[in-house]
Parts: sequence; structure tokens; C-alpha cells
Amino acid sequence: MPTTQAATRKPAPAKKAKSRSKAGDALAPERIKAILQRLDETYPAATCALKHQSAWELLVATILSAQCTDVRVNMVTPVLFKKYPTPQDFAALKPEELEPDIRSTGFFRNKSKSLVGSARKLIEDFGGQVPSDMDQLLTLPGVARKTANVVLGTWFHKAVGVVVDTHVHRISRRLEFTRSDNAKDIEQDLMRVIPQEKWIDFSHQIIHHGRALCVARKPKCAQCPLENLCHAADKTWSTVEIHKSAKP
Ligand code: SF4
Repeated sequence: MPTTQAATRKPAPAKKAKSRSKAGDALAPERIKAILQRLDETYPAATCALKHQSAWELLVATILSAQCTDVRVNMVTPVLFKKYPTPQDFAALKPEELEPDIRSTGFFRNKSKSLVGSARKLIEDFGGQVPSDMDQLLTLPGVARKTANVVLGTWFHKAVGVVVDTHVHRISRRLEFTRSDNAKDIEQDLMRVIPQEKWIDFSHQIIHHGRALCVARKPKCAQCPLENLCHAADKTWSTVEIHKSAKP
């Protein structure tokens, strides 16, 4: 029998089927359960690091925390709330008057406008109270889903969505809970994957994890409690197969 090129060629690897099976494994209920259990064991008391005494103070602190560390915000807010204790005090200001007090948090012009605008809107539309409703929160200037989810989850204990900050964004991709690079889509993916009763704790725990171990550059994988469940492409130490698709 003549040997043809076709007869000697090896079958091509089933790339598509393989990648589908990896994606399926990443979202397997037992894997998700194990990750959530280890996060509970490692970060049992994880909560919001922003100091606050009321929903209004938490809203202000969260707006100030954009592109800024919680440590810096916690240095600024005690002085700020002593000077302007209520939403009415903020509403009476021109944004420029607030700028010097929050300058060190960065983006202070926009943040001043958001804070004064939010205080005015609260007084005009919500009787001076921070609403506990996602759609109403989203009507406040400078408030998007991340800020609204922080206030709803931490102050009102309402699991309406998942907070997607820079840590949740990065680690959700490393853990293959999402392939998206867009906060809105990542939140939707997480809401599908994580049980609703874990949404609030999950974001607090992942934010702690992102600060302590799963840092942006050179994550501390050798110390990570999730290591044997993680296939991230940029792991620094691994006992399992790395998935090239699991980019941070
Ligand atoms: S093993 Fe490394 S990359 Fe994966 S979650 Fe842990 S610290 Fe992050």
C-alpha cells in the first residue's frame, strides 16, 4: 500500500474541546465551593477597610477611594467629617471650597463635584438619607455600581451585586471566574458563578487577598491557600498545570 502524506500525518490536537473542558473545570461547583471555603478560613473577618460611622460617611469615603489607597482616605475623612459633619454641610459648599480638604486623595476636582452634588441630590430627592436601593444610588453624581455595591453590602447588608475593584478584577481573571476585562461584565460573570449569599464576603475577602498575597506583580503563590486550585498564567510558583488563557 503506497504511503501517502495524508496517511502518515498525525491527527491535529483537539484544541477547542480542550479549552472548553478547561473553562468548564474552572467553573465546576466543587472548585468554586473549595475556593470560597478557603477564603472563609483565611479571611474570616474580612470587611470594608474604610472608616465610617454612617451610610453617608461610607459613601463619601468610597467616592474618595477611587485611585487612592484606603489608608490615605482614612487619614483624610476624620478631619473632613469633623469640619463638615452632615450631608447638609457638604451641600452648602461650592465644590472649590471642598477641594483643599481632599486634595491628597487625588482627582480632587472631580471628587469635590461628586461629593457636593451627591449631598445636594440626597437632600433634594431622598430626604437627606442615603438610599438603600441600587437604582436610586446610581442617580447620585459620581456613583457607579462599585460605589453603590460597597454602600449596599457593607452598610445595608444587601447583596445586590459584587464589588469589582482593581483587586477583584485581577483575581477573578486569575481564578478563571471571568475572561472579561470590563468591570460591568466581570460583575455579571461573578454574580452567575458565586452564590448570592457570598457576594458581600467574597468581595471583601478577595480585596484582602489582593493586598496580602495575590498582588498585581509577583503574586505570593507559594503562600497562597488557593494555590492548587489556581491555574493563572502569571503564577510565581505552581504545583498544577498553568492555563495560558488565565491571564490576570
Ligand atoms: S496562586 Fe498566586 S495567582 Fe493564584 S490566587 Fe494565589 S497568589 Fe493569586
